[in-house]
Amino acid sequence: MIAQAHPLARLELAGNALSLDFANTLNYRPAPARDYLASYPELLNWSEYAGSLPAAAVRRLRPLADSPQAAAVLAETHRLRDTVFTVFSAIAAGRQPGSAAVERLSDAYAGATRNARIAGASAAGSRTKATHGGGYGLTWPVEPHQLDAPLWPVAHSAGELLMSGPLERIGECPSCGWLFLDTSRNGTRRWCSMATCGSRDKMARYHRRQRRAG
Ligand SMILES: [Zn+2]
Repeated sequence: MIAQAHPLARLELAGNALSLDFANTLNYRPAPARDYLASYPELLNWSEYAGSLPAAAVRRLRPLADSPQAAAVLAETHRLRDTVFTVFSAIAAGRQPGSAAVERLSDAYAGATRNARIAGASAAGSRTKATHGGGYGLTWPVEPHQLDAPLWPVAHSAGELLMSGPLERIGECPSCGWLFLDTSRNGTRRWCSMATCGSRDKMARYHRRQRRAG
């Protein structure tokens, strides 16, 4: 495997929902310069980074990370990512997502729930586990051959978000195409992040003002 620095450390989890962070693993749409899920091992790294699977589960999947089966799962990963983007980008624009995309999401969601278990508070945690309601939540026990396990929490998150919303709070950054759930009090979030696109916009407006002033 190619040794590389950990570019994930610079990837912001700005989506406020696991499925939206998953869609945001392309740095830019429609013409991305960086794909954070360019290989199956990167998918595993991201799952741990985003907290969708516990580290122990990710470790169990690593031995087969370079197998042909893993390559097939990577292709499935990219399809699911496109589906999640298609569905929630439409919603962010106030449109009804296409039925074919919702159908694909529905299939992925069904696969996820088939593999999910309800577990008590003592079970190894993941980001999708409930933190209230008595401490019970969903977990995904992972066997080493279940290479599509990283997609389960993501598909589940996407399905729950689509069914439970709040859909009027889903936005898309006008600059980079990242999706987010707006959890600000007033619901006025516009950018993926004030550290990147928001500040770039602020700079651009500042320079325009400077030019006008000069
Ligand atoms: Zn952005």
